[in-house]
Amino acid sequence: MTALILKNLRPMGGDLTGLNIVDGRFSATAPDGAEVIDCGGRILIPGMIEAHTHLDKSLLGMDWYRNEVGPRLIDKIDNEREVKVALGLDPQVQSERHAILAMSHGCTHIRSHVDVDTHHGLAGVEGVMATREKLAGMIDIEIVAFPQSGMMTRPGTVEMMDEALKLGAELVGGIDPCGMEHDPKGHLDAVFGLAEKHGKPVDIHLHERDALGWFSMEEIIDRTIALGMQGKVAISHAFCLGAVDRGYVAGLQEKLAENQIHILTTAPASAPVPAVKELKAYGILTGAGCDGIRDTWGPYGNSDMLEKAMHIGMRNNLRRDDEVELALDICTFGGAAVMGLDGYGLDIGCVADCVLVEGATLAEAVVTHAPRKLALKAGKVIARDGACVIEAP
Ligand SMILES: [Zn+2]
Repeated sequence: MTALILKNLRPMGGDLTGLNIVDGRFSATAPDGAEVIDCGGRILIPGMIEAHTHLDKSLLGMDWYRNEVGPRLIDKIDNEREVKVALGLDPQVQSERHAILAMSHGCTHIRSHVDVDTHHGLAGVEGVMATREKLAGMIDIEIVAFPQSGMMTRPGTVEMMDEALKLGAELVGGIDPCGMEHDPKGHLDAVFGLAEKHGKPVDIHLHERDALGWFSMEEIIDRTIALGMQGKVAISHAFCLGAVDRGYVAGLQEKLAENQIHILTTAPASAPVPAVKELKAYGILTGAGCDGIRDTWGPYGNSDMLEKAMHIGMRNNLRRDDEVELALDICTFGGAAVMGLDGYGLDIGCVADCVLVEGATLAEAVVTHAPRKLALKAGKVIARDGACVIEAP
């Protein structure tokens, strides 16, 4: 039996108390002789949930990449596919560096989309799977097989996706059925066909804006209903829900709620974003992610979900403390709900995934997102004073 006592902390910013951890879970009692950690009166929250990122492609630790990529989505996709070879990007090493950075900020779970294409085959999935094994017990990584370069436009990709799912990817990904593939029926039939064949959930990138995105979203909703996949479909980005025509969006949000389709927001500064207060009002489960960081798409990102909570707040005009707390909730409980995590939270019996944050209140912790004093995964220390306990390669 392993036991740990965390004393002098404030769960979710509440009153000062202590928490016991026995065999990786919060427990009502702890045996004599358990190790004691003084948390200095800090706020304790559950482990941060990075529910949308791309572990296979960050350039962390590599030479600076001079970005001269064109403005369209397809420019970034085509460039990346070629440049990954030229740069000698190793998906195992890069995903390990990226995951360790996330852990340093108190992240305990990651959902990563991983490129599957005819150029690189399954190298990305294999690399991220190797990292997942290497970091087992310190962070949980879920893999979405992601046909970023398209399935309809690049024959052979559907078969590759099938292989990725057999190999161990947990979800079927997809991307802009109209804008990218110009074949919404073909693309979505392939995505949902793979989901049905493998009995796996779906998480689709939808960058399409306004009416184009609404059309794709309705096609996704129709297939969710036809296959009885309520609760097993997520839409990432969903920029079309940030459209000006709130009447149309309201109708869509009603349908999303009715069919338990989840939303994952990345709250970028550069696009319209789903209105998180509305999603909450509709009862739509909402998580968040940093998306790709420091890659050939763009130079930004720190893989810090507390900072992402601030971005969500800024993009949604969240100012009141209870509103900023909603942004944090999306980066913790929301992401955990979308990912269907069992035993998530700070209650007795929950898995002891948790992180100490700085600030007098939750809102202050989000706004300052200062280095985390301590982060635990199943009661095991994974980060101290803003640094992961293991070194990146
Ligand atoms: Zn993405």
